[in-house]
Amino acid sequence: MFEEVVDVPETAREFDVVVVGAGIGGLYGVHRFASQGLSVLGLEGASGVGGVWFHNRYPGARVDIESFDYCYYFSSELYNEWEWSERYATQSELLRYLNHVADRFDIRRHFLFETWVTGAQWDKEASRYRVTVSSGDTFTCRFLVMATGNLSAARDPQFPGLEKFQGEWVQASHWPDREVELAGRRIGVIGTGSSGVQTVPVVAKVAEHVTVFQRSPNFSVPAHNGPMSKDTWDRIRQDVPGERAALMASAGARHVSPGTSNAADLTPEQREELLEKSWSYGGHVFQRTFADQGTDDFSNSVAAEFVRNKIRSIVDDPELAEKLCPKDHPVGSRRLCVDTDYYATYNRDNVTLVDVSEHAIERFDETGIITADGTHHELDLVIFALGFNAFTGAIDNANIRNAEGASPTDHWDRGPRTLLGMTTTGFPNLFISTGPGSPAVLANLTVHNEQCMDWIGDCIAYLDKSGYATIEASEEAQDEWTARVAEAAGSLLRLRTKNYMVHVNADDQSRVFIPYVGGFGNYVARCNEIAENGYEGFVLK
Ligand code: NAP
Repeated sequence: MFEEVVDVPETAREFDVVVVGAGIGGLYGVHRFASQGLSVLGLEGASGVGGVWFHNRYPGARVDIESFDYCYYFSSELYNEWEWSERYATQSELLRYLNHVADRFDIRRHFLFETWVTGAQWDKEASRYRVTVSSGDTFTCRFLVMATGNLSAARDPQFPGLEKFQGEWVQASHWPDREVELAGRRIGVIGTGSSGVQTVPVVAKVAEHVTVFQRSPNFSVPAHNGPMSKDTWDRIRQDVPGERAALMASAGARHVSPGTSNAADLTPEQREELLEKSWSYGGHVFQRTFADQGTDDFSNSVAAEFVRNKIRSIVDDPELAEKLCPKDHPVGSRRLCVDTDYYATYNRDNVTLVDVSEHAIERFDETGIITADGTHHELDLVIFALGFNAFTGAIDNANIRNAEGASPTDHWDRGPRTLLGMTTTGFPNLFISTGPGSPAVLANLTVHNEQCMDWIGDCIAYLDKSGYATIEASEEAQDEWTARVAEAAGSLLRLRTKNYMVHVNADDQSRVFIPYVGGFGNYVARCNEIAENGYEGFVLK
């Protein structure tokens, strides 16, 4: 299925651009840079294209943004020829789509697959990065573009005794490319974020028994998946460039109309009606039911209680329902999960919830998991859905070093410091697509990656045209942007929650919200303004 077609000449060692990653960002970046006449090498550790959609092939994996938005917009022909079969595409359909894109635009020939980046050293004299890879080869490039994603470096299981376990274990984020037997097995799922919430209902249908180990309950809303809704899709197809431009100016790079009323201005009946409408529509629209839901305690508590009451009405066992009700964080402050039958699955006889906030997982033994209350949970298969070393994990894994031997994240102990989320001071000619300090995971990442790669491509063209060899974020401009990112997050309820989007400072426990939350459109406008002003805030040499 993932036939490797490598067309990188044996002798080619020097490139204008090296792009790391063949996911949504890397595929488009390579295509974009090659189209403007640059020599490009793509490096990908997996055996095929797809990025997260290559690796996250766990049962039930599907995108939680509507398919008409979660796709490329740069080509009207591509947009119009691809027929999405469902409102929320499955992982396998997304992977087919990304393979189609790679073939259609002949992108694969620029990539080396099964090739991990092991290091990237900036050579100040040559103004080039020296990129070493797992095969032992070295390549050099003028520009290094990280398209490694924010949620790609998996948090590996670290449970005592796991090595003794005689059953099978797999990671949702690196699901093996082979049949994993589910039918008739006693399956444990650890982790109840978006991945766990998607996989539990699917495996429960075939497993002998599913034991879900929940440390924190998350809010989840129904997807109401089904066939693609034709109205919006047909409208977009009539004017893809116009819709793309509209998305570039929108709050989250997708077609969502946020609520316009504050909860306090509505009667209880009106509030209930709006919440019911969002719930019935399905998906992330729920967290924007009220205009002030992300910033106002009252508004958020009304929405949160609405979801808790839904859980109580769906789950038959009241005690179990309470365990599934999140009470320690505002709704939407962690990424809202989008599910199909998640809560109803707990009414099945073959599903048990183990609250590991009460009795932590103590260790594995040969046949299962022992929790702190001494209970032994017999298991044949364990699925870890533990999340990611978000934002910085994949950057760290590439071992990038500047002339002084520092890594990009060395000075990020009080939160990431970037200019536009794409560059960081001290690292000339290094770009990160949708990095920390950009809207990142808060925006639709297909369109966001297109925007970042276009900006980077235009920037390289400007440098070449103007005779500059290097570009680097100035300290002042980086400080200014970092302050802007913090200011945008100032009144957010999200900051109260501990999760992968919040950096907690070790010394004083103060919090930094990592993505830029001031709106995708405002972000794009600032990126464009900086470019139009001759890359103000950057040092060009
Ligand atoms: P996640 O949201 O970070 O969830 C990880 C889960 O593992 C949490 O429930 C966490 O509990 C639990 N966990 C971690 N270590 C544990 C331990 N030692 N013992 C017990 N539980 C432990 O990760 P995710 O579910 O992979 O989702 C991450 C993000 O990926 C999502 O927010 C979303 O942006 C993206 N994603 C998207 C889709 C989609 O498009 N449909 C699907 C999957 C993922 P605590 O909460 O207590 O830490």
